Amino acid sequence: MYDIENIYQATSVKDAIEQLLAKPDALIIAGGSDILIKIHNGKLSGCSLVSIYGLDELRGISIDDDGRIKIGPLTSFSHITNDEIIKKHIPVLGEAVDQVGGPQIRNIGTIGGNISNGVTSADSASTLFALNAQLEITGIDGKRIIPISDYYIGPGKVVLKQGEILTAIYITKENYQGFTGCYIKYAMRNAMDIATLGCSVTCKLSEDKTKIKDVHLAYGVAGPVPMRCPETEKLIIDMEISDEMFEKFGAMAMEEVNPRDSWRASKTLRLQLAKELSKRALKQAIIKSGGVL
Ligand SMILES: Cc1cc2nc3c(=O)[nH]c(=O)nc-3n(C[C@H](O)[C@H](O)[C@H](O)COP(=O)(O)OP(=O)(O)OC[C@H]3O[C@@H](n4cnc5c(N)ncnc54)[C@H](O)[C@@H]3O)c2cc1C
Repeated sequence: MYDIENIYQATSVKDAIEQLLAKPDALIIAGGSDILIKIHNGKLSGCSLVSIYGLDELRGISIDDDGRIKIGPLTSFSHITNDEIIKKHIPVLGEAVDQVGGPQIRNIGTIGGNISNGVTSADSASTLFALNAQLEITGIDGKRIIPISDYYIGPGKVVLKQGEILTAIYITKENYQGFTGCYIKYAMRNAMDIATLGCSVTCKLSEDKTKIKDVHLAYGVAGPVPMRCPETEKLIIDMEISDEMFEKFGAMAMEEVNPRDSWRASKTLRLQLAKELSKRALKQAIIKSGGVL
């Protein structure tokens, strides 16, 4: 039983914004995989919904002349994994979203919904942090673009005001060209489980493949919102690939994260995972770049 007061099917982004402003308590629904569960279990009983799911202008992946990749927020996880642009330029994102739920969820769930619910465990979020994604937000006064790190303002909270919609996710060329990446999701079972900890690393090697030229390390569930570890990243830039480098990377990552105890795992386990997964993900990213461990 879904207790919904009414649902409006938007015909354009502008129409959706106007409807949201006219009904200040109305909520956006995209694929509905999060929101319908909250309605079903009573947390959002009697709510009004504005559906953007029919807006094909918000769906799909393209690349512009400058090499900037645009991902529509309504693009489903399965679309992302199988998209040729993603496979060629940012396969790590396809691999990350391929770990969400099961096939049905990956067909209906959208990347925009995944980051807009504000949840730290969202499987797409840490990789979008590692890729320095930029988010386009559209409201009644036009569009603005913000870094994904400014999107999250607390557990379950994003920066969107009523009447604002996430309308695009951008990845610029300098954040993927020459980089390879790896996302590792640690969960208590192999299927249909949210991450106990998720770790995403992208890295770029020196020309002779012996040193780290650049590295981006991001986590989900290592803090109240997804996060990057800038100090850990800085520590190994220009370092030779070596056991010592991996140890420094893992140890510093453990210092920088801020996980909590929950019924799913203790803080101590999550700290250990942060150390271990950062090293494993970096190793895989290096191997993909042709580096030798
Ligand atoms: C059985 C099951 C298993 C799951 N497993 C995983 C998992 O392993 N990993 C994982 O990360 N997630 C998982 N999820 C969560 C879920 O599938 C995702 O978070 C999904 O991406 C949400 O997308 P949606 O389009 O369905 O969002 P919706 O439910 O439609 O919306 C989610 C939230 O985002 C807002 N929103 C949606 N689109 C926009 C937009 N364009 N602009 C502004 N606000 C917007 C909505 O208002 C709502 O607050 C699971 C869910 C289920 C039911």
